[in-house]
Amino acid sequence: MKEKHPDITSTIPAPTLTNIPSPKKIKLAVPTTASNTIPDPTTKTTTMLDPAITTTTTLPSTPSEQMQRTHRELFRKVRSTEEVEVLTSAGDENRDDEADLGDITYPPKDDQLKVMVQYILKNKTLPVILPEHFRLPSVEKEYPRHLIPEEMMCQHCPGNVPLSDPVLITQKAKILTSSRIVQDVSTCCKSCHQCGAFFRYQEWKDGIHNFNDRILLDLPLCITIRNMLQVHTAVCRVVEYLERTTGVHFPSADTIMQGYLHFEALTEHDYEYSCVNCGDHPPVVIMDLHKKGAFHLSVSDLSPPPEDFNGEVDMHSFWEALSLERIGQGFVTSQQKNTFTVPPSYNFWAPWIGPKTCRSNHVLNTEYQKVRPPKPTEVSEMTVTEDRLREELYKQKVQVVRKLCKECGLDSSGSRADLLLRLSNEMKSRQTYDKVFQKIWAASGGWAVIMCPCGIVYSIKCNIRAESPRDFADMLLSWKHMPNVIIYDFARGLATHMNLREPGSLPLKPFEGRLNPPTPDNIAKAKDGKLKVSLPWLNCKKNIPDPEGHRVTGSAEHYALYDRFHEDNTKDPRDVLRKLRTVPQLAGKVNSQVAEQLFSRMKKNNYFLNMALPSTHLFLMRNIIHHHNTYRNEQRLGNIKKAFGNDVTMNRHSQAVLVNPVSPEKVSTVSIGIDVPTELNPIQDKLLSYVLDTRRPGAEIIIKEGSTCLTREEIRSLGLQRNMDSQIGNACFKLIHEAAQQHGKDIYIEDMYVIPTWKCTPKNMAVNFPEDVDMKDLLVFPAWTNSNGPEHFILCGLPLQNFGNDCGIFILMYTLCIVTGVGFDFQERFAFWTDEARSLVQGALQPVSRVPRLSAVSEKVPVHIESVDHRTTEEKRLVDFIGELQGSEEHLVTYKATV
Ligand SMILES: [Zn+2]
Ligand SMILES: [Zn+2]
Repeated sequence: MKEKHPDITSTIPAPTLTNIPSPKKIKLAVPTTASNTIPDPTTKTTTMLDPAITTTTTLPSTPSEQMQRTHRELFRKVRSTEEVEVLTSAGDENRDDEADLGDITYPPKDDQLKVMVQYILKNKTLPVILPEHFRLPSVEKEYPRHLIPEEMMCQHCPGNVPLSDPVLITQKAKILTSSRIVQDVSTCCKSCHQCGAFFRYQEWKDGIHNFNDRILLDLPLCITIRNMLQVHTAVCRVVEYLERTTGVHFPSADTIMQGYLHFEALTEHDYEYSCVNCGDHPPVVIMDLHKKGAFHLSVSDLSPPPEDFNGEVDMHSFWEALSLERIGQGFVTSQQKNTFTVPPSYNFWAPWIGPKTCRSNHVLNTEYQKVRPPKPTEVSEMTVTEDRLREELYKQKVQVVRKLCKECGLDSSGSRADLLLRLSNEMKSRQTYDKVFQKIWAASGGWAVIMCPCGIVYSIKCNIRAESPRDFADMLLSWKHMPNVIIYDFARGLATHMNLREPGSLPLKPFEGRLNPPTPDNIAKAKDGKLKVSLPWLNCKKNIPDPEGHRVTGSAEHYALYDRFHEDNTKDPRDVLRKLRTVPQLAGKVNSQVAEQLFSRMKKNNYFLNMALPSTHLFLMRNIIHHHNTYRNEQRLGNIKKAFGNDVTMNRHSQAVLVNPVSPEKVSTVSIGIDVPTELNPIQDKLLSYVLDTRRPGAEIIIKEGSTCLTREEIRSLGLQRNMDSQIGNACFKLIHEAAQQHGKDIYIEDMYVIPTWKCTPKNMAVNFPEDVDMKDLLVFPAWTNSNGPEHFILCGLPLQNFGNDCGIFILMYTLCIVTGVGFDFQERFAFWTDEARSLVQGALQPVSRVPRLSAVSEKVPVHIESVDHRTTEEKRLVDFIGELQGSEEHLVTYKATV
């Protein structure tokens, strides 16, 4: 083959720089040179060369590459319809669609093909953001008709080894666009006579994407297909639409789909899988299984992994192999012939985890362990999914159940209930279990998905076998910082599995990922909804991070929790301590439905996704989800920019933050609920307006003092005619505690979340008290009562205030007055205007901004406040109890220590 190359070049007259034809000349030259280039039979080279190419672009003897480029530009610019007609009629003489390549084997085979595919994937990529004129379809757009590889020198051989002249592959290639098909396009390749490498046309800068040298897609069409997939329209429907619109017959949908995937494989997506709000290491995640996303696969065909396989797979290599497979598709006529196909396997199949989120490129996939009969300790893992499967089975129609019974060799007579009972009993055997699973769910185990509360996907794993918590554990253990709170509908199964698997480190702790130790007392409290477990580090990082604490929160605690909808999934009474609602920082703020929302969108893609081969299915799924993530992130960034009118930048955790602080001029005063005295200092006024601005994000941290963090939403509860948030109450009491210290008084103030729990367990009242409680000057128990209208704070013996919601403020003020001995003079306003507050308002300090989901900006009172509303009678009992304890009829909540 190599020795043929000199022959090829010798048949082509090599133009010198002096005889570069002018644009006019090219047009005229076409028909005449066409006859000149008919190969001389004596040279034994039967290569058909496109006349235009020979005349205009082959300059093997030209030293200056730049000149050659200019030359080609000239050639492009003169394309006109006339000329196209000339070329077409010239080409018509050769009725054969395929040009005869003679001895040259193109596409190359085996190693040469591998070299070529790898070269394309590395060097011929497209940018993620294409210039505007390549994204929008245009009817007028003219495309070049002669597509020649740009390379002049071999890219593999050292030194400057010139490539052969262009060799025609076909002159019947088609450029598909959304408005027409450009016919009779010629495509060429070049080869290196030294190493034998081939180069083909793959230049996105012309606005076209070469799929297989015969079918090319223009870039606007590629973008259209991408966006259509985002709105759940399969390529076959796009093709149908195109055919109806243009009246032209398009190639098969499958070919166009492969062409589109080829385009996606060459686009430089980094698949970051990270949320602009939560950053690379989200502290809270939601996990779920997309069970309907599956491909058909016979598990029995899978060979077991090699003996020494340790469960680690090379994520980069796996996904690169899938990309190479897409590129390889551009050289074969059917998927079956693609030697780059990646078959499912236990030791190569890898999940996708955002590159900044994962610990390293070597991630876990221990699915092969599902094959082994479960050890007794792992039984819990299996039964968990079995329960779930049973649940699903019970939803099936009677015919399906009857057929399943037959397939499992069971009696298929009787009622639906009989059948279900029979199958259900039989499912205890792994064989039947697998059969039922495959029938009910899918051939493969669906997609395990981890996402943040905003709905951005962080990790995906396509299960080969039935789902188990193992799949999620594989991903979580591959993360650099395992999330602190994991919301999963099989929280218990996950906790058991992970702690059994890593007995040394026990990933889910404390309390096996429960919020409290599972004492009978705690369980009872939690059952009545009386338990609150505050995780303040979710709002702001621990001052002194735990050893091996999460990078964002500083906490080394890891909880596996159930959301509201799956609280009843478990029969273990201890799991009542896994309720998401128990955590005030999460209650009402985390929408665990995001996973289901994503899946219901993805379900609409099943009709085309599930038809694809496993590797295609994986490639496409990761790609579709990437575009989904990108779209949502862009929307969120847009909202942030709208809200702040400011430059947004990314911090080191890849979270969006403001470059410049908000300037005070932009802060407009909003109507707020509390009576603001007119003589308010201008700085105070501005700060108040800023803090209470309803258009700003509710989750923005306004006050950070030690371990206490207060968000705007919590502070609004003070200012906007609402009952005071207990977080705020606690924070204010902390200030009061400090004020008392300054006055030389040592006081103890009970946590506002703790007091409501006393009504059920009065004996536990003293549990929280410090050792030296009897030495305190004053004990303060801020509590609620309904004796003066629903849910009021009240202090005995003091004038009652009549402004409804302000009672929270009053109790704070009275307490302050008592402890400091200032007297009840509210005219004398106290304000803790720190330097920090001043600089925030002056614009010198950047607010800590966590931009929330839209719903978090809502005006709704947080759920943990609402939940208190349901307990009015019990509240009363509590207050009564405190009163009785003191031998008083009054509802005394602030009193002198008597001991
Ligand atoms: Zn070479
Ligand atoms: Zn997020």
